[in-house]
Amino acid sequence: MPIFSSLIIELADFPELRERVLSVLHAIPAHVQQDFVEDPRFRVTIDNFVPGQGWTLWMPTPGPIGSGTRCVVLRTKLSHCSEAFAHYVIAHEFAHAFLRNGPWGEILDVEEAADALAATWGFLRPPISG
Ligand SMILES: [Zn+2]
Repeated sequence: MPIFSSLIIELADFPELRERVLSVLHAIPAHVQQDFVEDPRFRVTIDNFVPGQGWTLWMPTPGPIGSGTRCVVLRTKLSHCSEAFAHYVIAHEFAHAFLRNGPWGEILDVEEAADALAATWGFLRPPISG
């Protein structure tokens, strides 16, 4: 089992969210875990709210594949929403990170690609409620 603690240092002040991220990290396939753990640029952090711009969940960086940072940015509200929804969002963001925010096979839409990959990991978009 890879060591995930170094990936989630920045979640220390958000123990509920940290637990949710950890359970997703433990559930994803080993080769994906390996990809994250072995990449020193990969980390999980908390949203950076900018008035007038809202939240940025994913910040793609310019440059060829493999360059730049790979930072998964999560909203603090994922600490409090339903666990199924939080797990789905976290897995979706991890899927973007694994795909370098790109397509997956024949799925060219990056959002559909992230959803489809997360679904293969067992994290389906829950029904909208409330
Ligand atoms: Zn997305």
